[in-house]
Amino acid sequence: MPHRTQTINGLIKKIESYDPKADFEMIRLVYDYAKDAHEGQFRKSGEPYIIHPLAAAYILANMSIDPVIIMATLLHDVPEDTDRTLEDLEKNFGKEIASLVEGITKLGKLKYRGVERYIENLRKMFIAMAEDVRVMIIKFADRIHNLTTLDALPPQKRYRIALESLEIYAPIANRLGMDEMKGELEDLSFKFVYPKEYERVKKMRDEKLQGKEKYFKHIINITEKELKKSNISVISIHGRNKKLYSLHKKLIDKNNELGRIYDIVAIRIIVDNVAKCYATLGILHSIWKPIKGRIKDYIAQPKPNGYQSLHTTVFAEGGEPVEFQIRTLEMNEDAEYGIAAHWHYDEHGSRRPQKDIKWVQELAQIQKDILNKLSDLEEMKVDFLQSRIFVLTPKGDVIDLPEGATPVDFAYHIHSDIGNKCTGARVNEKMVSLDTELRNGDIVEVLTDKNRKGPSPDWAKFVKTHTAKTHISNFAKSKNGGLSRFFNILPKKGDK
Ligand code: MN
Repeated sequence: MPHRTQTINGLIKKIESYDPKADFEMIRLVYDYAKDAHEGQFRKSGEPYIIHPLAAAYILANMSIDPVIIMATLLHDVPEDTDRTLEDLEKNFGKEIASLVEGITKLGKLKYRGVERYIENLRKMFIAMAEDVRVMIIKFADRIHNLTTLDALPPQKRYRIALESLEIYAPIANRLGMDEMKGELEDLSFKFVYPKEYERVKKMRDEKLQGKEKYFKHIINITEKELKKSNISVISIHGRNKKLYSLHKKLIDKNNELGRIYDIVAIRIIVDNVAKCYATLGILHSIWKPIKGRIKDYIAQPKPNGYQSLHTTVFAEGGEPVEFQIRTLEMNEDAEYGIAAHWHYDEHGSRRPQKDIKWVQELAQIQKDILNKLSDLEEMKVDFLQSRIFVLTPKGDVIDLPEGATPVDFAYHIHSDIGNKCTGARVNEKMVSLDTELRNGDIVEVLTDKNRKGPSPDWAKFVKTHTAKTHISNFAKSKNGGLSRFFNILPKKGDK
């Protein structure tokens, strides 16, 4: 990121391009105020501190975000790191900006370490989100810029910030539908959390893409011509590369077989309306044969985070599988900006009407779920909390287990049936034995065999969770005959 070229004039120009009526005088005043407040402070990289809020503001301006949020971003570190107070901010720039900055400041410093820190962080973020979700948009921009300058920090701190971004920030951005920011947060952290995997996946992707540019250009040309023949005007058509961390997770899902991943590059087509989306899909299928089971209608059935699009993979020229993603402009903005789309200006310079209360409801639900989970955790004893670890499913869901837990505990936590049929496990992509102790941040994948009769009695010697112990001993009992065997295969209460 070329900070040196970022200036307040550049920022204002950028904002002018999507909101010519913005209060530029005020934006300039805000910038001068922040610059003054941070005078004499420097980033770990040695650069003047103002570089950081300015860069974060640029990230949001590049997403055509509401100038009010951008002004709060310029001021986001002022109350915490300088002698200027929130009251002073309010006096100068009004309540709205001051309250956004206050939200960020509250997220600020974390007292605790280890697992408690994780919980404290989550709780703070959800409270901030509940009060004003715009605070999260600023926080993500702040974090993205910090991740681009991690090299200046000591390794330990670097790792902690990257891990936190990968495990907490990115999943929240994902739940808020902010795909752009989620992708940035993941790829920037990936490199620091799993450096070897990062290099490996990057190399794999680059090799796979080598020399393919011409091919994709050719496919895009054919598509454009055919759509034109049918009078479908295309707003935009372009290839997009899959992000590295998302490719990494998919590789884990697909047993590391790159050949089974069809969307390393996808061609994205944006058209006027929903009817044209379906018409485009039909035309693609008349040129190239679609691959069975790869047609997905997320327009009729959106993903849980609201994502809408049509996906299909076809055997294109030369029999090569190519994925297409077809959507309207509105769907595309929703997909890229998620909840931030409400503060994003479209190409006509107007803001999206707040018609989707869906987002707000969804958000309320996420908060409720997580806060419930947190209050459960809070009720437990502190020493119990300290002995918990957090591991991840290949899809990125966080699972908490007692310290010393093994892949078998993990398997039973997911579902009793997965526990009973489990034959092996992969941790961070490596095959491990079933009694391996899991560590914080591990990505765990369980291998099962549907023909397996049940758990091995030996597992009882190393499992740590009550659930796993119960299932294993019940199975051993049932083997001794009796009707209980039949009851044991029924899902138990409490199983998810
Ligand atoms: Mn900051």
